[in-house]
Amino acid sequence: MKKPLDPATLAAHAAGALDHASGGVVPALQPSTTFTRDENYDLHRPDNIYARDNADNLRQAEAVIRALENATDTLLFPSGMAAIAAVFRTLPNRARVVVQTGIYWGTTQWVRDFCARREVTLIEADAAELAGCCATENPDLVFVETPSNPWLQTVDIRQVADASDGVLVVDCTAATPILTRALDHGADIVMHSATKAMNGHSDVLAGVLSTRNADSSIWGAIQLDRKTAGAMLGPFEAWLLTRAMRTLPLRVERMSQNAQRLAEYLLAHDRITDVLYPGLPHHPGHAVAQKQMHGGFGSLMSVLVDGRREDTLAVVGKLQLFLRATSLGGVESLVEHRHTIEPDTGIPENLIRVSVGIEGIEDLIADWAQALDVSG
Ligand SMILES: *Cc1c(COP(=O)(O)O)cnc(C)c1O
Repeated sequence: MKKPLDPATLAAHAAGALDHASGGVVPALQPSTTFTRDENYDLHRPDNIYARDNADNLRQAEAVIRALENATDTLLFPSGMAAIAAVFRTLPNRARVVVQTGIYWGTTQWVRDFCARREVTLIEADAAELAGCCATENPDLVFVETPSNPWLQTVDIRQVADASDGVLVVDCTAATPILTRALDHGADIVMHSATKAMNGHSDVLAGVLSTRNADSSIWGAIQLDRKTAGAMLGPFEAWLLTRAMRTLPLRVERMSQNAQRLAEYLLAHDRITDVLYPGLPHHPGHAVAQKQMHGGFGSLMSVLVDGRREDTLAVVGKLQLFLRATSLGGVESLVEHRHTIEPDTGIPENLIRVSVGIEGIEDLIADWAQALDVSG
């Protein structure tokens, strides 16, 4: 066997996507929703029938992700939530699921509602208690997120995989497949909101699932659900995503370097009481992150300001380069006051979630320095 290609090589070449019809080095955008048959009623290409089944531009993006994840199969969805919903919809009524607490709020909200309506027993467990909980609760499915958004808690994927016979699904959005290949650590299915760093340019909404075992019954059910329930990503979005992922390894490397530098700067600042970032040695999940994340600790962190709501909003308001907007993983740095968005879920009023982009680090540090300067 030949040595597998470096992720940077796979990504730069979009896993070999070329346009054979024109000779172009970039794949063509193919928006057709339907495909012709010849005079004998045979399809010109047996894999192209109708755009809800599959499409060339989706296959191209999926091939890149499949290679980066070391997966046997990958499916794109029109959002991260659509991907999560496709997984949970495969559960029979009265199934048992264990879901981590303090994860992406949209997931928690949707899963609670879904489980209540379908009489699915939902057991919520803190990152630190997950493995123990899986061992005693005998779940059919376990859903974890590492590092978690916005608490930056880390979960030892291998430990949870060993503790449970249920299907282990890991939302690895904040890590990206460049830093963590969750399937190699024992996950059965890895999920990403490709809206975030995978696309990285804040211009595509997409989600993706990849599996270690494409022959499993749950994967078959997910494939069928996408096709029959119709949660397909459009070809233009898939084409943009393929284009964006050519630079994914570069972007993740730069964002992680910037985030590490900014986290260290902010932790040392006397107006900051704590910085939640797995790359910092004092972070409770640092050892797990070191084991499970390779080449950096990602672009996401949460910063606790020494003060109350109004002091925190004043800092956020003074930032000039960090745009005040939700989302994460883009080339441009963003901040969000999560408590304003989800006031009733225990997010502290002095927490600022930060997504660090690829800008010059000295500019980013200078922006925080002036925003934290009480004399100015
Ligand atoms: C954004 C996000 C999602 C949801 O993805 P969408 O593409 O917005 O539907 C799920 N998990 C995490 C960790 C996220 O950050």
